[in-house]
Amino acid sequence: MRIYLSRPHMSGKEEKLVLEAFSSNYIAPLGPHVDAFEETIADYLGEGLYCAALSSGTAALHLALKISGVSEGDEVWVSSMTFAGGVFPIIYLGATPRFFDLDPKTWCLDIEIIETELLKASSENRLPKAIIPTDLYGQSVDITSLEKLAKEFDVPLIIDSAESLGAITNDARKAGSGGDASILSFNGNKIITTSGGGMLVTKHKDWASKARFLSTQARDEAPHYQHSEIGYNYRLSNICAAIGLGQMEVLDERVRRRREVFKRYFDALSIPGIDFMPEAQGYHSTRWLTALTIDPTKLGINRNDVMKRLNEHEIESRPLWKPMHLQPIFKGSRYHGRGVDESLFEKGICLPSGSDLSLEEQDEIISHLLALFK
Ligand SMILES: *Cc1c(COP(=O)(O)O)cnc(C)c1O
Repeated sequence: MRIYLSRPHMSGKEEKLVLEAFSSNYIAPLGPHVDAFEETIADYLGEGLYCAALSSGTAALHLALKISGVSEGDEVWVSSMTFAGGVFPIIYLGATPRFFDLDPKTWCLDIEIIETELLKASSENRLPKAIIPTDLYGQSVDITSLEKLAKEFDVPLIIDSAESLGAITNDARKAGSGGDASILSFNGNKIITTSGGGMLVTKHKDWASKARFLSTQARDEAPHYQHSEIGYNYRLSNICAAIGLGQMEVLDERVRRRREVFKRYFDALSIPGIDFMPEAQGYHSTRWLTALTIDPTKLGINRNDVMKRLNEHEIESRPLWKPMHLQPIFKGSRYHGRGVDESLFEKGICLPSGSDLSLEEQDEIISHLLALFK
């Protein structure tokens, strides 16, 4: 049986909630489970937050950017090392991305580079219309510092927390609770899933109601169908929300388990030539995926060959995200950095990290790896 990177992991509580949704016949992109899911996430993340449940994390980012005021011809600054869904919505709005490198100490957006570039852009009167830092592989960005910068330069801050629900920062902020808005994803490979879904989380009550309005085709209040704005069909289905409610009951348990998986890899594979993704001082990552780099000069084998050999044993692995400024579609885009992300992409690998990975499966992966490195 193939071992996957990150599989959906149901708790057993979801089916009952889905049955409830069936028996109430709320088989629609609205209903009590959608409302309850929004409330549960808002409660989990802290006080003064509002949620809009949407069909994907990508949809949540699209609406967050739109509501923040991004439009045609604008510039948006974003981490280069991320998944396409964390960048494409900039293009949906006719805006242009400018890509930024990571800090090697955290593998999250390099705040010093951002600050330098904000100062420069400010003096040249070309500040971006939004900044999107990405929480990578389960580690939250430094929310407080980024909020300070965003406030200083008066730029909306939208944090991509698609990979980090359950993570905590060094000043006890929860990933997903920061910025003008944060976005979450409940895609099948994420730490909890609704099969597919997303959430826009915001401290602005009017942003949340605007997101609900835009995600249900922008229907004005009228007995007939009336529209004064262009909308989208982006609302989360009540059935999916029922799954999400069941998953939220075990979120902290899932985080605990993923961290355990990381720890076992770390203990077994901390040898010269292997460097694990650092956990910034005082931070609590979810370790959504265990990410590490392989130095071929020390280990005698490169990342691609490791992946190939694992695959021969029916073990799935992946390179780290290919930076967006290296993607064919974003050729010629502006990029600020020292190539930290480029070198991570070249040497980095994600290992199977699901919360349902068994000890035996993990031992098998570890022993194959150790054999390759000898
Ligand atoms: C998964 C992911 C998204 C997109 O979420 P979907 O729900 O798949 O649309 C966006 N950004 C990052 C960093 C992600 O990992």
